[in-house]
Amino acid sequence: MANFAIIRTPPQHSPRTGGSNIQSARICTKMNIFSQLYRKKNPTSHLFATFAPINRITIKYPAMKVYKFGGASVKSADGVRNLRHIVDGEENLFIIVSAMGKTTNALEEVFTCMQKGDKQEGLDRIKRIVEYHDSIITDLWGAPTRIEQVDLLFGQLRNILVDTTYRTSDAELWYDTIVAFGELISTTIVSEYLKHTGIDNRWIDMRTTFVTNQRHKDAYVDIKASEPRLKEALENTGVSVFVGQGFIGAAPDGTTTTLGREGSDYSAAVVANILDAESMSVWKDVDGVLNADPKIFPDAVQIAELNYLDAIELAYSGAQIIHPRTIKPLQNKNIPLYVRPFGDKRKPGTVIRAMSAPVDVPILILKKNQVLLTIRSRDFSFVLEERFATIFSLFERFRLKTNLIHNSAVNLSLCVDNSWHIDEAVNALRANGFDVMKTGDMELLTIRGYTDELWRRYAKGPQVFIRQSTQATVRVVRKR
Ligand code: ASP
Ligand code: MG
Repeated sequence: MANFAIIRTPPQHSPRTGGSNIQSARICTKMNIFSQLYRKKNPTSHLFATFAPINRITIKYPAMKVYKFGGASVKSADGVRNLRHIVDGEENLFIIVSAMGKTTNALEEVFTCMQKGDKQEGLDRIKRIVEYHDSIITDLWGAPTRIEQVDLLFGQLRNILVDTTYRTSDAELWYDTIVAFGELISTTIVSEYLKHTGIDNRWIDMRTTFVTNQRHKDAYVDIKASEPRLKEALENTGVSVFVGQGFIGAAPDGTTTTLGREGSDYSAAVVANILDAESMSVWKDVDGVLNADPKIFPDAVQIAELNYLDAIELAYSGAQIIHPRTIKPLQNKNIPLYVRPFGDKRKPGTVIRAMSAPVDVPILILKKNQVLLTIRSRDFSFVLEERFATIFSLFERFRLKTNLIHNSAVNLSLCVDNSWHIDEAVNALRANGFDVMKTGDMELLTIRGYTDELWRRYAKGPQVFIRQSTQATVRVVRKR
């Protein structure tokens, strides 16, 4: 059993530590007031995290490992049993789990029902989500079994749907509050199942440990503010295995936030950073990182090693190995990231770390669901460059994610992720004196280390709208 010795440092009066104490106390007070106000107005406010003030603590514990299991890995009872097999015999382990299977998508539909005011349809959808989880529980326990905590969570979810007076201005807040249940439920089942099969562990509510910014649906974790909370949660538990949700946290006002779709990798990386983990492993349904998506490009091969920078570039270009935000928290602490096959824990997978052997195969990455915006100033008398700041601040305001930029004297073309806010952004650009042309159904293909043959095959032809190339990399915006 791990020995989590706690060393409490008395409050210090150096400007730095003193400052952060005062600051966290102030944040807490604000949150508490908010929660109280909120509670009056809203019956579901018990769902809002209240962060307790925390003393500075230093915890000495053995080197931890962080394992992350995605939705595909826990989509069935077999998946959960396999997770148990993988963690068997491990100590000093923090397990991050996503929502089971396609639960996040199903919860997004529940949110859509809230938006449309169709509560009955929403309840029907929740019922199907309950049935799906029940079937996994029944299979795992070998007989129909009620897990009180799971029932409680589903009860809360129903209450939110039924009791909320929905306002469009709160769309992101309610989206986050609803979809977070996928992870809350999956981790409860996993934690209970591990206990049931002899692996003692502690379930951690990441809404009380991860403090994020207020940016719903796409939040960043405030690592400094989260560190003492996460460490405190591991304190005096008498166990050395912890199970927490990927993808979720809470904003300073106590409301639930999510970290962007597929954000569980990022959660795991932040946990690894805070705990100074010796390694992080992402267990996936592939053997490791491949040089291309085998569903789209035949002949894909596995890459044994990658360095952090290559991994960031790949993730950014849309390779669905890991969430793009995952690398930085690991890189800052020099923690290696293993991408390993869920089906066979003896296989080495791919390791991502500071130094690695150079990659010697071309890498192809396809980012789908792109929109091309071509922007031109209505007033031709000045060059567009002078107005870049206006354009990009509007992009920031409407949270458009830009993947490729192409400019000439009068045109600026941007390839962006399709999102809820594109039309609002286009309207705002028009209101600011720009002509904007929007072309949907695009995709962005990046080929690193391209060959003549790949160029001929993918970077030419009438469907190519924009092509940018350097010596090693070509990027193509093309019609789907
Ligand atoms: N469950 C969330 C999603 O499907 C987060 C994750 O899987 O990483 O996007
Ligand atoms: Mg998922």
